[in-house]
Amino acid sequence: MSLLDPLFHSLLAQADARRMRRVLRPLSTQAPAGHVLRDGTPLVDFSSNDYLGLARDPAIARQAARCALRHGAGARASRLVTGTLDLHAEAEAAIAAFKGTEAALLLASGWQANAAALPALIGAVQGPALVYTDRLIHASLHAGCAQAGVRQIRYRHNDLDHLEHLLAERAQEPGQRFIVTESVFSMDGDQADVPALAALAERHGAFLYLDEAHATGVLGPQGRGLAAQAGGRVDLVMGTFSKAAGGFGAYIAGSRALCDYLVNTCSGFIYSTALPPAVVGAVHAAVTRLPGMDAERAHLHALATRLRAGLADIGIDTGLSSTQIVPAIVGDAGRALALADALAQAGMLVGAIRPPTVPAGTSRLRIALSSLHTAGQVDALVTRIRDSRGPCAGAGT
Ligand SMILES: *Cc1c(COP(=O)(O)O)cnc(C)c1O
Repeated sequence: MSLLDPLFHSLLAQADARRMRRVLRPLSTQAPAGHVLRDGTPLVDFSSNDYLGLARDPAIARQAARCALRHGAGARASRLVTGTLDLHAEAEAAIAAFKGTEAALLLASGWQANAAALPALIGAVQGPALVYTDRLIHASLHAGCAQAGVRQIRYRHNDLDHLEHLLAERAQEPGQRFIVTESVFSMDGDQADVPALAALAERHGAFLYLDEAHATGVLGPQGRGLAAQAGGRVDLVMGTFSKAAGGFGAYIAGSRALCDYLVNTCSGFIYSTALPPAVVGAVHAAVTRLPGMDAERAHLHALATRLRAGLADIGIDTGLSSTQIVPAIVGDAGRALALADALAQAGMLVGAIRPPTVPAGTSRLRIALSSLHTAGQVDALVTRIRDSRGPCAGAGT
């Protein structure tokens, strides 16, 4: 028993009472493609970020295994000590080529990349930093801003007029501007206008930081992400290998000077052990594979279009989703949970997302599609949502 257990128990009981307590529910992936097993029952997996089905791809898993057998289970040290292996350098060169940048750096995870790179960047600036952030940025970006000790200047979600207004308001203030956003938003599945952001950043001398966690492998030419739309005018692109790439680890891509600077200053890079050979093997294999997956991407986007149309037909709001992430916004947290339970009973696993992950009153099912899904599975999902949404059906929430 820990000293603070009574406090933990009471806080957990309060969360329980508000139906906000989160618990871990183990699953098994020993199931057919696109499915998971929960308590021995196969469920169609509409809740993972394995958008292209690479997480269980045999060739990628084999490459991971080969690297582990050949190079060992661990990298033995942090990158700056003796942890940088040929494998890391080769994977980083492949990532830079994939993203069309001079250089790239591997980091332990996307969370760590954001939490550690932002303070390093902001620390580079002599004098004040004005950090403009989209209101819906990921928790890891908030962690980075907090670590940097800056007060974010938050603009309305994807509202570039508002951003421009806020930039203009402080045009006379000294300091380096930063704009921090995602290219695809994880809970809404909508996209930022990256070329317009790049143009705005250029006009205001702002450094543009773009998190491509959900776009990498899925959007842009050959899955290279939305930064590709802005032709090299994004200063720093970050992304993860834990979503469409099917593995683990993250990257930062940009100029050689940027990456060299981060090697020298980014705490989460310097003081963390290098990614292990198996993980780097999977990363490299995925980066090699992604450009050739246009057919899978086309199928994925067609499924998303079909799902949005199906949900619209039954009066369910999908917000501004235009990607493989489709929220079915139902408003009330209890209702989202009840709907997720009903879907699980029908053999479909869909995550219910509640505050504080999303704003109050916008609880939702977050439907994450994969190229492993079929049109029939998407249709069955819509039918089940229609039949299960309960007494408030059609209330237009
Ligand atoms: C998932 C996610 C991350 C974190 O990436 P991990 O590699 O899973 O730690 C960062 N940013 C966004 C927008 C994400 O959705």
